Amino acid sequence: MPQPGGGGDSAAAGRAAGKALTALEEAKRVDDRVEKLTLACMAMWELLRERTGLTEEDLLAKVREIDLRDGAEDGKVARQFKRCPRCDRVMSAKHARCLYCGEPDLQAGAFGQI
Ligand SMILES: [Zn+2]
Repeated sequence: MPQPGGGGDSAAAGRAAGKALTALEEAKRVDDRVEKLTLACMAMWELLRERTGLTEEDLLAKVREIDLRDGAEDGKVARQFKRCPRCDRVMSAKHARCLYCGEPDLQAGAFGQI
């Protein structure tokens, strides 16, 4: 039976600290990616607005329209499960092909693998 404050506790504390550090590093990477995506979205929107005459109201209306496609106005785009047209198994949103039969996901589009 491990003694309180003995080597077992110390090793467990070290592993927990390592996991916490890994989680913090991952959170930092995600935060950095969100910042870069936000910057790219802002740049795209400003180019569109300047060159097409679209307005802020147009953008907000489109955001709301897309937000509502999953049935909830919550500021999120819910991932919908898709079934493979060939084998009818659930297709992963992270892959361009069905993991079971290799059928390409032709409906993925530009945002399909984000
Ligand atoms: Zn398949």
